[in-house]
Amino acid sequence: MVKRAYNFNPGPAALPLPVLEKVKEELLDYHGTGMSILEISHRSKEFENVINDANELMRKIYNIPDEYKVLWLQGGSSTQFYMVPANLMLEGKPAEYVNTGSWSKKAIKEAKFYGDVNVVASSEDKNFSYIPSNVSFNDNISYAHITSNNTIYGTQWQNYPAIGDAPLVSDMCSDFLSRPVDIKKFGVLYASAQKNLGPAGVTAVLIREDLINRGKALPTMISYKTHAEKNSLFNTPPCFSIYVCKLVLEWIKSIGGLNEIEKRNKKKSSIVYGLIDKSNGFYKGHAEPNSRSNMNVTFRLPSEELEAECINQAKGKCFVGIKGHRSVGGMRISLYNAVPVEAAEEVAEFLKEFQEAHTQ
Ligand SMILES: *Cc1c(COP(=O)(O)O)cnc(C)c1O
Repeated sequence: MVKRAYNFNPGPAALPLPVLEKVKEELLDYHGTGMSILEISHRSKEFENVINDANELMRKIYNIPDEYKVLWLQGGSSTQFYMVPANLMLEGKPAEYVNTGSWSKKAIKEAKFYGDVNVVASSEDKNFSYIPSNVSFNDNISYAHITSNNTIYGTQWQNYPAIGDAPLVSDMCSDFLSRPVDIKKFGVLYASAQKNLGPAGVTAVLIREDLINRGKALPTMISYKTHAEKNSLFNTPPCFSIYVCKLVLEWIKSIGGLNEIEKRNKKKSSIVYGLIDKSNGFYKGHAEPNSRSNMNVTFRLPSEELEAECINQAKGKCFVGIKGHRSVGGMRISLYNAVPVEAAEEVAEFLKEFQEAHTQ
């Protein structure tokens, strides 16, 4: 048996072990072709089956209505920061954004290249420790944009904001496929794969058909229409990444779909939040309780020295990736889909012992 780390990395992140085992098993001879999936043509029957299966699985797992397309694109979520406004911004109609952290800010910056942008709500006043409540969007806008999970700060929208006729767009990079979502609430959802869906290199985009072509003249590669018309095979896609995403989707289906995934995610995060809440203030959560993320748990210790020592001791336990982002400091434990419940239990036990060893 290979010794596996407890991987709490924020992204790229843990993948399900059965998926890695399947990749290994199929690597040298993909379905009797005598070639690896890494070597075959994206125009081959084998790869076409991979992308079609991935589409089908995504549709089933997310219960995606017929009027939506699933796209597999490159350039990460960061590329969607400009593809969304390039495709969706309409003459004379601003886009409205909610600023809940660094990723929102980056999305806002890119949108400004394409038109007027209004920030209708922000949690910057308290270092993005909460999701603004009672957010409302104006009528007559091109679209509204939120970041459903704020990876760096550890906050997550619990209820999506209401919106009129304009499409709601979400950067769902770090909580994609982590819970059931009513897809109809959204016009566009995007998520690069490396947090919950698969390896880096591919970005899933779920888009309502009427938004694929708003009649704008665009360079070929940044137009959603190009990719939608060609089943994401206009140019060479990241075949291997899409293949691994397909295996992850199969894994999600095999364990019981998004209801089971959500149950496990809630269980993991409640184990770690429970430890924080019972620590008499030794561990201080960054996110306000009603904005807490089930994906990224962020907290501080009483001093930076203790934080450094805790991270150092964690290494000896094979806990990887628990250092917080510099804009929050402290620790961040990412509990994406592929992180087992046992890992959350182990890290909570470690933190409990660390506290006991460092309080009189
Ligand atoms: C990681 C992340 C991104 C950036 O994704 P890239 O694939 O690196 O472009 C964007 N938004 C959120 C919420 C993220 O967590």
